[in-house]
Amino acid sequence: MRKTTFLTRKLREASFLSKGLLSTRHVVLAHLIPMRRCNLACGYCNEYDHSSSPVPAELIKRRIDKLADLRTSIITISGGEPMMHPELDEIVHHIRLRGMIAGLISNGYYFTPERIKRLNKAGLEYLQISIDNVVPDEVSRKSLRVLDKKLGYLSEYADFHVNINSVIGGGIKNPEDALTVARRAVELGFSSTVGVIHDNDGTLKPLLPKEKDIFQQVKKLGNKDHARLNWFQDSIAEGKPYNWRCRAGARYLYICEEGLVHWCSQQRGYPGIPLDEYTMEDFDREYNTEKWCAPTCTLQCVHQVGLLDNWRDPQKTPAQIAAEQEKKETVGEMIRVE
Ligand code: SF4
Ligand code: SF4
Repeated sequence: MRKTTFLTRKLREASFLSKGLLSTRHVVLAHLIPMRRCNLACGYCNEYDHSSSPVPAELIKRRIDKLADLRTSIITISGGEPMMHPELDEIVHHIRLRGMIAGLISNGYYFTPERIKRLNKAGLEYLQISIDNVVPDEVSRKSLRVLDKKLGYLSEYADFHVNINSVIGGGIKNPEDALTVARRAVELGFSSTVGVIHDNDGTLKPLLPKEKDIFQQVKKLGNKDHARLNWFQDSIAEGKPYNWRCRAGARYLYICEEGLVHWCSQQRGYPGIPLDEYTMEDFDREYNTEKWCAPTCTLQCVHQVGLLDNWRDPQKTPAQIAAEQEKKETVGEMIRVE
């Protein structure tokens, strides 16, 4: 990566971080899905199909414009496999045109030197690839052996930051593979992180003793900032709940291929409002709503966004919010009767 690109990215990160701390009333991170289709079928995944069409770029650009209106700092394109979208470069470029940080999550299969150079030109700033094992098996084909050549291309040509996420849990057979993946990532000059993954019904599976040991080793090898931001993983690995304030639906948004806002990939349907109708009233309600699924949540990026506000603005359960609303309406009714 060029030195100037690195410095510019770091400065932009610092400026967005201070903006996030100074004001609570804007979106920090949005995951945007332009493509639900995927070329793979990982055993633990509930986020893909094999038949849907790409969402037209013009429609995606309108969603990006709306996210810019909500003063979003970072948009990460995800899927399915977003590299299958024929107009991905145009989408990335539009995020940059609107002044936001552009990220991408991919399974890595489609990276060639030519494709990487096009993403450089479009202005991509971050890429994350999750690698699940060394050799493909029935659970996952996101494998180091298959992807190593692609990682070599990325190391040689990418101007953007590359993070390799290895995973533990969710039926991955050889937990020690996570260590091999993390070592290779560091060798190629990438950052490395480790995630505890969901079972395919989206629930948390506690780690086995061997998995826990490898998890700690991979964490030591990886990105120190990331380890500092992910204390929650230690509780989750022990199978213990973690107490935090999830700001999904407000500071973090998940926008599906139909353009609906959801809390996250694992809680689709809440609130399920079209993005173009999403208001700051919706934002405030979700910001203040306690999420029932928070104690066992493993979604790293939403936890990291939550850190900005964990120390302020306690949340209420949906039942408490509804009771308060009812009380307000009753008082209003009494005043009208008077
Ligand atoms: S985890 Fe990623 S690569 Fe695997 S099926 Fe799901 S979307 Fe596709
Ligand atoms: S706690 Fe986790 S699973 Fe629940 S809404 Fe927040 S990010 Fe999604």
